[in-house]
Amino acid sequence: QASRPFNFSPGPAAIPHEVLSRVSEEMLDWHGSGMSVMEMSHRGREFTSIYEAAERDLRELLQVPDHFRILFMQGGGLGENAIVPMNLSRGGIVDVVLSGTWSHKSAAEARRYAEVRIAADCANADGRYLDLIPATDWQLSRDAAYVHVCSNETIDGLELHQLPDLKALGSDAPLVIDCSSHVASRSVDWSKVGLAFAGAQKNIGPAGLTLVIVRDDLLDRALPICPSAFNYQLVAQAESMFNTPPTFAIYVAGLVFQWLKGFSYAGKTGVAAIEQRNIDKAALLYQALDASSLYENRVAARSRSRMNIPFFLRDERLNEPFLAGARDHGLLQLKGHKSVGGMRASIYNAMPLEGVQALVSYLNDFEKRHG
Ligand code: PMP
Repeated sequence: QASRPFNFSPGPAAIPHEVLSRVSEEMLDWHGSGMSVMEMSHRGREFTSIYEAAERDLRELLQVPDHFRILFMQGGGLGENAIVPMNLSRGGIVDVVLSGTWSHKSAAEARRYAEVRIAADCANADGRYLDLIPATDWQLSRDAAYVHVCSNETIDGLELHQLPDLKALGSDAPLVIDCSSHVASRSVDWSKVGLAFAGAQKNIGPAGLTLVIVRDDLLDRALPICPSAFNYQLVAQAESMFNTPPTFAIYVAGLVFQWLKGFSYAGKTGVAAIEQRNIDKAALLYQALDASSLYENRVAARSRSRMNIPFFLRDERLNEPFLAGARDHGLLQLKGHKSVGGMRASIYNAMPLEGVQALVSYLNDFEKRHG
């Protein structure tokens, strides 16, 4: 494998090298068809086989039960912020947990279609999101159409490590998770989920594809104003071909799923293996940050994300030299989101352990020189 820099982008993010090589080999002539995947009819037999394999492999990887439909859609995470309430809210009450930037946006968008109630606001007194409120302390409405949670807040670096059992908390509402930034990074307990959505551009493939995994019984309740192309039932009935789907992105995502199926680590395979490597990568980086007197991550240990690790240099004047040095060492896109500043290392599935080791060694060297 030719060496490339390590890319810590929050998204669009790094794609496994093996997948990119395969895409480049198949670019001009996919499997002897004489066509690039970009040039194929989405209804032809070649693309149908690509689509069916992608759906099957994802179902197998994430152990999605038969009573859930997997939809390949467009519109991204922010599109789903409108598409979910148009499909599920019936114009009624929606409970939202505020845990950071993305759930804030979800609440604001849902207000256009439903009555939004805040089940929990995890902001501290300074308005910062540094810890999640345990589900047992959420104020759930008796008659909510659904409960919305962002299970990994990409900017703030918070992850919900255990999905709540809403039934046990006295709510009959389905749980909707925005898992855009940690989809396929760990196993999912589908008995707790009504609908999961995720933009593809972090853990799955190119931007332009949005995954929606939705329980069958939630398909039939769209508001009349819902555009047909975003109506889950119509999309499900058409096997994600109601309109032309993002074919090339589905193809690349399918290759990522194949890569994940063949992935092995620490005696495990597939999602169990990638989850273990994600645990190990995150532990390595958090340990280095916690041991340092130059850097800090401010998130409570129980809520720390395995995927997005924001950190600050205690002396902000060192930010630019830090980033310039990182680039020289082949460590790309470490600048934090503008709303929080500092740095952020996004270490999705495609980031190898060696990438985190290289970052840790750079952190240590930089601290020796500037600490
Ligand atoms: N939700 C989460 C958790 C995200 O990280 C992002 C993108 N960073 C979005 C939603 C928005 O996704 P998109 O840009 O695809 O609309």
